[in-house]
Amino acid sequence: MPKDFICKPCGYTISVGWYHYHEFKEGYGARTKFACGQCGICHYVEHADRTSSIPDRYLYLRERSGLSEKHPASQPPGPAEVSSDLFTSFDSFVCPVCQSRGKVITEQAVKEHLPACPLCKEEMALLTEWTS
Ligand SMILES: [Zn+2]
Ligand SMILES: [Zn+2]
Repeated sequence: MPKDFICKPCGYTISVGWYHYHEFKEGYGARTKFACGQCGICHYVEHADRTSSIPDRYLYLRERSGLSEKHPASQPPGPAEVSSDLFTSFDSFVCPVCQSRGKVITEQAVKEHLPACPLCKEEMALLTEWTS
């Protein structure tokens, strides 16, 4: 279940977490959302359905979404781009926008502590928790 976080001082939002699709698209059945901790761009991993033999794939947004509470990151302005890179792990992940390595805000990280805003480094607050 994805969680949206908001930075109260600057209004930036991110959306982090896992949800499943209601119909399988191109062999993928679920998605994990995460954000770059350096530049704030939202990323996704699409998880292949167990019955298909394709690997998980990685998608991203070209531009920052979630610039305010009215336009949260969970409602991006357009579809995510499919990357040619395969997703291997969060530790080795390199952000295509800012080239930082392993600096990601993951579902696991936000379970342990509130994330720091990628833009102004203030502590973010929980905005919405989605059910899927
Ligand atoms: Zn980045
Ligand atoms: Zn901020």
